[in-house]
Amino acid sequence: MRITMIGSGYVGLVSGTCFADFGHDVICVDKDEAKIRALEEGKIPIFEPGLDAIVAQNRRSGRLTFTTDLSSGLTEADVVFIAVGTPSRRGDGHADLSYVYAAAREIALGVKGFTVVVTKSTVPVGTGDEIERIMRETNPEADIAVVSNPEFLREGAAIEDFRRPDRIVVGLSDERAREVMEEVYRPLYLNRSPLLFTTRRTSELIKYAGNAFLAMKITFINEMADLCESVGADVQEVARGIGLDNRIGSKFLHAGPGYGGSCFPKDTLALVKTAQDHGSPVRLIETTVAINDTRKRAMARKVIAAFGGDVRGKTIAILGLTFKPNTDDMRDSPAISIIQALRDAGAQVSAYDPEGIENARPMLEGVTFGTGPYDIAEGADALVIVTEWNAFRALDFRRLAGVMRTPLLVDLRNVYSRDEVAPYGFGYLGIGRPLED
Ligand code: NAD
Repeated sequence: MRITMIGSGYVGLVSGTCFADFGHDVICVDKDEAKIRALEEGKIPIFEPGLDAIVAQNRRSGRLTFTTDLSSGLTEADVVFIAVGTPSRRGDGHADLSYVYAAAREIALGVKGFTVVVTKSTVPVGTGDEIERIMRETNPEADIAVVSNPEFLREGAAIEDFRRPDRIVVGLSDERAREVMEEVYRPLYLNRSPLLFTTRRTSELIKYAGNAFLAMKITFINEMADLCESVGADVQEVARGIGLDNRIGSKFLHAGPGYGGSCFPKDTLALVKTAQDHGSPVRLIETTVAINDTRKRAMARKVIAAFGGDVRGKTIAILGLTFKPNTDDMRDSPAISIIQALRDAGAQVSAYDPEGIENARPMLEGVTFGTGPYDIAEGADALVIVTEWNAFRALDFRRLAGVMRTPLLVDLRNVYSRDEVAPYGFGYLGIGRPLED
C-alpha cells in the first residue's frame, strides 16, 4: 500500500514509521519545515523510546520518506491519513478542527483515482461527515471514501502500543475502503489484534468515550486519596483491594497530582461540549473535568501547608516536569499549574526533568533549571516529585539530606514511603496515605 501521513507529530511519525515497518511505502508530510529538515537529517524531533532506530532502518530501506510538499505525496497514494493536531479551541473548549479541515481541502485537490482518507486525529462525532462534505465541495470529481480510525497509542510506549494494540477501531460504510483498511492493518490482524469495524460516528465516539473513562478512573482514585488522608486510610491499598476485582482492573488506579498531557484534558472537555450541543450532557465527565482542574493547584497548596501556609522565600525543588515519564511532552502537564501556584505564593522554584526541560523552559518563566536531582536540591527547603521517571526511583537520601536546607519530600506519585526516607531525617508527604503511621 502507498500511504501518505499528514502531520508528523507524536501520532503521525510513530504510525507512519510503523506502517513502513509493516512493509508499506509511506510518505510523512508536515508543514513544519524545521521538523521535516530534522527528520531528513536523521534527527527525531520528539523523544519517544526506540523510535530513532526504526525511523533510520525504514529510511534506509526507502520505504519511509519525509516532505513538506503535500501534493507530491497525494497522486500515488492509496490511503491518506490525517494525523494533525486537534487542540482545545481558545475560549470555548471545543476541539479546534481547523487543521483537519485545511488538510481535507488540500487532499481533495491532490488525489487521483480511488483514495481512502482516514482520520487518525481525535475528532468529535460528525467530523467525518464534514470532512466528506468539504472534500466533495472542493473537488466533486474526487473518488474518495472517508474513514475514521482513531489512535490509542500512549506516548512513551507508542511503538509497542502501535505494534500490539488491544484493538484497532475502524469506522466506515464503503466496502472498497474496508478492503483497503484490512490490507493496511494486515500484519496486526494476523497477530490477532482485533479489528473492530463499525460506523464512522460510533468509531469517533469510541475514542472520546475511552479517554473520558480513563480520566474518570484516575479522578476517582484521586478523590479516594483525599478521603484516605482525611480518614487515615492508605489509597495504595485501597487501589490494590479494588483493582484485584476483574470488573474494575488495577490499571489507572494510581493516585497523583491530576491527569494532564496532550489528550485527556482536551478530549474530556471536547466530549463535554459535544454532549452539551446535542442536548445530552455527560455530567460524570463534566464533574471529572472540574475536579481535575482544581486538583493541580491543590497539590501546590499541599506543599505550602507543609510550611505552615507560607513559602515566601523558600526554595522548592521540582523533580519531573512532563505529564508522565518517557516523553518530552509538556502539553497540559500538572507541573505547570503546580509551579505557577508555588511561584504565586512567593516560592523560588528549581526544577529538573530528564527529557522535558527544552519544552518546559518557555512555559515556566522564573524557574531555575538544573542538571539533576542533587543539583536542584542544593539549598532547597522541599523536594517535590511530580513525575515518576525511573531515574528518580533510587534517590540517595543521605546525599540529598546533606545538601538540602530542610529535608522534606513531597511525593506526589507515591514512589517512596515515610519509612524509607525517615531514617535520613526526611519529613514525608505522599498522596492518600495516613499523615502519621
Ligand atoms: P502534534 O502536535 O505532535 O503533531 C501534529 C503535526 O501536524 C504537527 O507537526 C503539525 O505541524 C502538523 N500539521 C498541522 N497541520 C498540517 C497540515 N495541514 N499539513 C501538514 N502537517 C500539518 O500532535 P499529536 O500529539 O501527534 O496528535 C495528533 C492527533 O492525534 C490529535 O488529534 C491527538 O488528539 C491525537 N492523538 C494523540 C495521541 C498522543 O499521545 N499524542 C494519542 C492518540 C491520539
